[in-house]
Amino acid sequence: MISSVRSLLSLFLQSACPLCQRSTPTEFCPNCTRQLQQSQLPNPAQFWQEQPAVFAWGWYAGNVRQAIRQLKYEHQPQIARPLGQWLAQAWLEANLDRVPVIVVPIPMHGEKQRQRGYNQAELIAQSFCQFTGHSMRVDGLERLRSTEAQFNLSAAQRKQNLLQAFKIGKAFQKEKPKYPVLLVDDIYTTGATIQATTQILHQHGIRVRGVATVAKARLWKDE
Ligand SMILES: [Zn+2]
Repeated sequence: MISSVRSLLSLFLQSACPLCQRSTPTEFCPNCTRQLQQSQLPNPAQFWQEQPAVFAWGWYAGNVRQAIRQLKYEHQPQIARPLGQWLAQAWLEANLDRVPVIVVPIPMHGEKQRQRGYNQAELIAQSFCQFTGHSMRVDGLERLRSTEAQFNLSAAQRKQNLLQAFKIGKAFQKEKPKYPVLLVDDIYTTGATIQATTQILHQHGIRVRGVATVAKARLWKDE
């Protein structure tokens, strides 16, 4: 696992902080860590009563946006570990549900994941589970195609396009999860992905508790 190897190596090696380039033995330097932690929402459960239920650690803005962009586009997979840990700590503090959940990261399309080398949602979910003790099913959902070029589609076409982009994964084809699913993603924007994946899980008789995300976009925009 890249992140654990990296954190082990970082005991001996200093690397550049992905946000300020200062040399640091940890994923972010102490200064950026402090600034990032100040970006945590005062109440990450403020959208938990909405439909779908959203648990968001921070806004997709400022240094949180910068960190997620580094994680996704600058090949900095180690950043997922602290982000997943902070999401987990906020989740445990909020103490929303005493019932266990099965964590399912939003999958990436195979080709895109091969290009990137990892799925950031899966790495965040892995770290989240490490700290919360929840179980994870990486193959609870499967992504059949990428859905980025949606701008020229109507709202109804987009919805249909997203529904066709996912299917139930191998793990749940064999056996339904015992507990409700908690989806995990790096960013929550319009909610269209979460609605589509929730609908697919519901069609198979699988309950969905909501989504835990590192960052929620403030504005409505295309996913
Ligand atoms: Zn820094």
